Amino acid sequence: LDREEPNYFGAGPALLPTSVLQQAAQDLVNYKNGGLGIGEISHRSKDAAQVIENTKANLKQLLNVPSTHEVFFLQGGGTTGFACAATNLQAAYAGKHGKKAPGGYIVTGSWAEKAFQEAARLGTDAEVLVNAKDLNQGKYGILPQESSYMDKIKSKEYSYVYLCENETVHGVEWPTLPQGLVESGVEIVADLSSDILSRPINVANYGLIMAGAQKNIGLAGLTLYIIKKSILEDISKVSDNQLREMGIPLSPIATHFPTVVKNDSAYNTIPIFTLHIIDLVLRNLIQKGGLEAQNELNNEKTKLLYSTLDKHSDFYDLPVAKDCRSRMNVVFTLKKAGLDDKFQQEAASRNLTGLKGHRSVGGFRASIYNAVSLQSVKLLAQFVDEFAKVNSQ
Ligand code: PLP
Repeated sequence: LDREEPNYFGAGPALLPTSVLQQAAQDLVNYKNGGLGIGEISHRSKDAAQVIENTKANLKQLLNVPSTHEVFFLQGGGTTGFACAATNLQAAYAGKHGKKAPGGYIVTGSWAEKAFQEAARLGTDAEVLVNAKDLNQGKYGILPQESSYMDKIKSKEYSYVYLCENETVHGVEWPTLPQGLVESGVEIVADLSSDILSRPINVANYGLIMAGAQKNIGLAGLTLYIIKKSILEDISKVSDNQLREMGIPLSPIATHFPTVVKNDSAYNTIPIFTLHIIDLVLRNLIQKGGLEAQNELNNEKTKLLYSTLDKHSDFYDLPVAKDCRSRMNVVFTLKKAGLDDKFQQEAASRNLTGLKGHRSVGGFRASIYNAVSLQSVKLLAQFVDEFAKVNSQ
């Protein structure tokens, strides 16, 4: 059960610590020497309940989750999150105010755009507050000024405001939640799929956090949710019939947040092996010094890679404004035509893999999630530097 440490920069599924995978592989066959693998035990057994409890406790510790918020897990990935965030948050608003109000979307890349499209497709009331592309010559790569969405939020009621904290495809990250938005009191729904656990955050500022597991937390198959308890209470105040009367689409029962929380994330069968891997990743993070230490390491990796690319700004093009460059997904292209294949082949010959950009934007993307070591980033930076020097003429 060994492997050479990969220098892998794939955007997701992403690299996991080798020690975590080794432990998980053993537990998959024989968990706690009980003769059964972790994926074979009942999701209602004592052992499974313990895994759920441990994982929640470790998450609460790492993210300093206040008592006002609850943690739970769902299947269905981030895409299911787009749907159930919209239906549940609209229900919460209806439960609290007895009427409906639209969800407002701040779109800074393709994932927030997809979230809006899904909310609209389902027939929930959804509105784009601002699309950053419209302010930047049709391209993603900037954050909109606060006034571009705050004027609307101040003049009208929204059931929630949605943003994607790190746009994995376009490499645009909010350095913090916009202060005006936090102060407005509107419920903030944020997709943290690709930057969760990369730095400390103030969970109290969010109404709902959702994050697919397959980047910084574990394997595909589960999505983490952190929700304000008052939102759960508000959803419970409204009946299915009342929602129908108001024209608000119901949430499927497996994604009805109060039902899932009441059943401790096991209303239906929770993939317990996937959850166990999350738990192992969290324990590993805690052991290494928690989010402060991880943040420092991530900053060091990011600084090294961006500064190397910037040094060769006549050779590499970085399409994202400096104030919102992603610390997780470093997106760049080569200015000279015809060199992309060579770049990729030479990188691969040094065992630097997973660098191809998303099919919708092309170019390159180095995803430097938590599990990517500083050593891997040093090797990549060295290659980026040498490739530019050799191919500039
Ligand atoms: N949100 C973000 C930020 C993502 O990066 C992704 C996938 O990479 C998704 C949502 C969609 O997740 P899934 O493929 O699990 O539905």
